[in-house]
Amino acid sequence: MHLSIITCLPKLLESPFSDSILKRAIAKKLVSVDIVDLRPYSLDKHKSIDDYAFGGGAGMVMMIEPLDRCITDLKSKRQYDEIIYMSPDGEMFSQSIANELSLKKNLILLCGHYKGVDERVREHLVTREISIGDYVLSGGELAAAVVSDAIIRLLPGVLNDETSALSDSFQDGLVAPPVYTRPADYKGWTVPEVLLSGHNANIEKWKQEQAEERTQKRRPGLIK
Ligand code: SAH
Repeated sequence: MHLSIITCLPKLLESPFSDSILKRAIAKKLVSVDIVDLRPYSLDKHKSIDDYAFGGGAGMVMMIEPLDRCITDLKSKRQYDEIIYMSPDGEMFSQSIANELSLKKNLILLCGHYKGVDERVREHLVTREISIGDYVLSGGELAAAVVSDAIIRLLPGVLNDETSALSDSFQDGLVAPPVYTRPADYKGWTVPEVLLSGHNANIEKWKQEQAEERTQKRRPGLIK
């Protein structure tokens, strides 16, 4: 898989990909991530990428021309399955969208800033719009990092234990059961007996019951 993330603040996207699981996925060549700086695609001598909004109002708007040039350049090098604009009013991101996107080959994630992008970018250049929640961030970078992380950890070979992603919350319509590690007794706070029993069938049954109970309590909407 290849991800191209278009941003006017490339530095914001350095650290999410330089540690832990995402770093390892890139090192193992299971995914390549290209942080594309928008600024060089600006035509004017100040390298500006935003301008005042037509009709007035507070806040700057990202101009269509540098974005069009940037996307056209990326498309000349690769065929992209989706060009996704990170947007608070987009489709709400979820595990099932992450699953779906993890099957694609090449994706562009476009990070907005300021008041967002010129509407014509959304009308003519973008194929999909994703929000990570009903709140407003100052830029799309953190949202793009969230979406990339959720996708990349699903790619085969990225997690050491192949079944690990499948046992995470939401994959089977349930949230995850509680987990414990040593010590079995800490200040008298003990671990459920069954987990120490070594009886696999009972342990699996307990986990399933816990997951169902938690889902009922915390995310009743997941239960069909
Ligand atoms: N004026 C816009 C908000 C712009 S916020 C509005 O009211 O809808 C600036 C940029 O941050 C957006 O262009 C988008 O790329 C990103 N962004 C903000 N909140 C987001 C969210 N919840 N999900 C995804 N991207 C978001």
